[in-house]
Order: sequence, then structure tokens, then C-alpha cells
Amino acid sequence: MNEVELKQVVEEVVRKMAAATSTKAQKSAPEVGTGKGVFENIEDAIAAAKAAQVDLHMMPLEFRENIITRIREKVMANKELLAEMAVHETGMGKVGHKILKHELVAKKTPGTECIEVTAWSGDQGLTIIERGPFGVVGAITPSTNPSETVFCNAIGMIAAGNTVVFNSHPNAAKTSNFAVQLVNEAAEEAGGITNVATTVLNPTADSGNTLFKHPDIQLLVATGGPGVVKAILQSGKRGIAAGAGNPPVLVDETANIQKAAQDIINGATFDNNLPCIAEKEVIVVNEVADELIYYMASENDCYILKGEQIEKLTQTVLVEKNGRHIVNRDYVGRDASVILKGIGIDAPESTKCIIFEADKNHILVVEELMMPILGIVRVNSVDEGIEVAKILEGGNRHSAHMHSSNVYNLTKYGKALDTAIFVKNAPSYAGIGFGGEGFATFTIASKTGEGLTNAASFTKARRCVMADALYIR
Ligand code: NAD
Repeated sequence: MNEVELKQVVEEVVRKMAAATSTKAQKSAPEVGTGKGVFENIEDAIAAAKAAQVDLHMMPLEFRENIITRIREKVMANKELLAEMAVHETGMGKVGHKILKHELVAKKTPGTECIEVTAWSGDQGLTIIERGPFGVVGAITPSTNPSETVFCNAIGMIAAGNTVVFNSHPNAAKTSNFAVQLVNEAAEEAGGITNVATTVLNPTADSGNTLFKHPDIQLLVATGGPGVVKAILQSGKRGIAAGAGNPPVLVDETANIQKAAQDIINGATFDNNLPCIAEKEVIVVNEVADELIYYMASENDCYILKGEQIEKLTQTVLVEKNGRHIVNRDYVGRDASVILKGIGIDAPESTKCIIFEADKNHILVVEELMMPILGIVRVNSVDEGIEVAKILEGGNRHSAHMHSSNVYNLTKYGKALDTAIFVKNAPSYAGIGFGGEGFATFTIASKTGEGLTNAASFTKARRCVMADALYIR
């Protein structure tokens, strides 16, 4: 048996194993009905979360931490099932990568420890700023991280003393609602409190609207695309808006090109490019462009498209609606080989990414695709690259990445792009604590300025003053 035949046999075995796991998980996938925080209508979900918040706020901080510990355990115990459910329900992403995302959320989402107290003590007494809960939070979750966002938000919001009502993406409601049920199981096991997180069985635009306008919702947190960000900002309530990005990655002539190629493809293909932080287009200094493309193709399972094939790809993965191009949802988060099949190319299932050279104005470079597709734009210098990256980032101020060994170039890029996340010399996911230092989050609020949200983001400041006493200096 030669090397190619051996590779084919291995691929076939892996495919069969994946199919077997998938069938097994689907068989044991829970029927998600009402109960454990899931309600028929949003009004009931809000009322239940409101009552639960009164109880939660009376409990000691240690109790919140006990709930969070249980949530972490539930995520770890159900990570395979949740990953399978999400891929099955949405048709997007990769089971293996979604398992890793659940591990990340369980292990690295911070709890009460990140809520800090500020104090002044002196002749006139003691003044402290304490961070307290808003009350009941209304949270909107995306189809791209349907359970990860629920767990991440729930941990942070409960740590801050809030309860939360979710209105999840209708295409991922089963997975998101199962996650809400697990959060409630955790809270019940930790001490009998129920409805710390609630949701509606069949979320709709109407249930979302009710949440946006409801007088018992004190804070809105939206994770999703431009539509929901706009809705939150226009709601008249305090809102945290975690919206879309179109993260560029710039490679200059001082980078380790072989490593840059590997890091970029690993980042851009993680969960088939669904993460909002993932590399969405490459800008490379001409001097090293051929080398970068060579390593992407020869060592990182990339398929290079040329000429008319690029045009065909454009016609396939984008559709026209009301005179503008929008992504064809049939291809969002799909494997590169599936997308290639859509344009009549048979490529091995192991193909990780589709790459092609493009002009900086090419629609596939300008649009956020969320597919394992990378347009590569050549520039003459790092300065030109920074200018191009700034335009392609689209003013989202979300994420931008760079490969370089010149600290001055890195600094210039960081200042110019001004994004919530800036990863240097690593895959984009290092920016949310996966292979990089720092905590994890699945809600990155660049528009409203919180950046990587955690429990502290879901608190409000309260000044507490004791005059002429309690200073013991
Ligand atoms: P989406 O915008 O289609 O949906 C997100 C959520 O918003 C869903 O619950 C949906 O029902 C709701 N929604 C959509 N339009 C709305 C409107 N006009 N009014 C009220 N609610 C509305 O996004 P998606 O496809 O599920 O997720 C992918 C998008 O989310 C990408 O643009 C991605 O960049 C972004 N995202 C951002 C972050 C972040 O932390 N910044 C994280 C994950 C995803």
C-alpha cells in the first residue's frame, strides 16, 4: 500500500468513527421541552428570573461560586453532546472544535474573583465602591456559539448577582435551551435556587422585542451580527453590544513565515471560521507573499483557487438581497471540501481552507463570511498593509492580528487598528485564552467598549460612605 492509499484508508476510518459518534450522540440528545428554566412565553421567563434574582442577591458570594462550580462541571460532562447538538441543529462548525470551546468556557470563564472593590480610607472615614448586580439581564445569543455563549454569559452574570433571560437564535434554540437547563440544574444542585437563567421554548423576533422593552430588564447583552447590535443600541436601555468583526491578519517581511502560515490556517479554520475573532482575510508584504502561500498550500492543507474559480466561489457563497451581497447561509461554517463541491471541485475532506489572491476591494475580502475561505491581498510595504487592514477591519474595532518580529511594526499596527483583541504571532484564538494568557469570553463588546466581557461587565458601581468612622490607620 503506498502513502496515498494509506492516507485514504485512514481518512475513511476517521470518517466512519465520526459518523458513528454522531449517530450515538444524536440518539442520546435530549428532548428539550419546557421546565428547568424553559418557558412557553417570554413574559413568564422574565417573571421567574425576576423572582429568582431576589433570592440570589440575598445569598452569600460563596453560594454564587458554588453554582458556578457546578455549571463548569455540567459543561465538562456534556461537552461532546452539546457540540454534537450544535452541529446537528445548525449544520455549522466542527464537533471536535466545539468540544474544545466548551472546555475553554468551563475552565477559563472567570467568576466572582474579577469583581473588585475600590476603597478610600482617611480622616473622614471609609468610602468604598462596590460593584452590584443590575438585576435581570436580557441576553441575545448567536447561532455560531449557541451553548458556549449561554454558559459564558450565565457564569459572569450570576457571579455579578444577576439572573438572566435568554432569547437565543431560533436556528439554535434547542442547543441554547438545553444549556439553560443545565445552568438551572447546576443552581438547583448547589442549593435549591431555581430559574437563575430562563428562556423561551421557541424564541422569535417578537419575544426578543418584548425582552428589549420589558420594564423588569435592566441590562441588555447582545452577541450577534449588525442587526441585533443596532436593535440594542436603539432600545433605550443600558446595552452591551458584542457585534461582528472582519479581522484582518497582516504578515510582514520580518515574520517567521512558515509559522505564520500554520498559525493563520489554524486560527481561520477553527470551527470552520465561525468565531468572530477568526482571521477573515490576509494581507502580506509582497517580498514574502509567495513563501506564505507556498507553506499554506504545502503544509497546511489549503486549496488554491485561481481566475474563474474565484468568480464562481463569489457567486456561490454570496447571494444578492435588496441590491446588496449577503452570505449564503448554506455555506456558513461548512467544511472547505463542501464549499469546493458547491463550485464543482472535488477535493479531499482533509482540505482545511480555500485560499486565493485578491484585490483589497474584492467582495470576499471585504465581507465577513464565516467560512474557511481566505483572500490574500499583496501590499508593497508594512505601512501600506496597515492602511489596507484598517479599511478591511471595517471600523468594527473588534479583532486584528499580525505576524512580525519587529516590535515597532506591531506597535504601529496595534495603534492604527485600535481593536478589542490584537493577537501577535499566534492563531486568533489565543486572544480568548486558548493558547494565550488571560480569561476566556464568548461575548466581545467592541462597539460599547467593554471589550472581553466578564462578571465585572455585568455590574454597576455603588459608592458606600461611612463618615468619621471605620478608619483604623
Ligand atoms: P445573527 O445576527 O443572525 O443573530 C444573533 C442573534 O441576534 C440571534 O439571537 C438573532 O435572533 C438576533 N437578531 C438578529 N437580528 C436581530 C434584530 N434585528 N433584532 C433583534 N434581534 C436580532 O448572528 P449569528 O449568525 O447567529 O452569529 C454570527 C454573528 O455574530 C457574526 O456576525 C459574528 O461576528 C457575531 N458574533 C459576535 C461575537 C462577539 O463576541 N462580538 C460573538 C459571536 C458572534
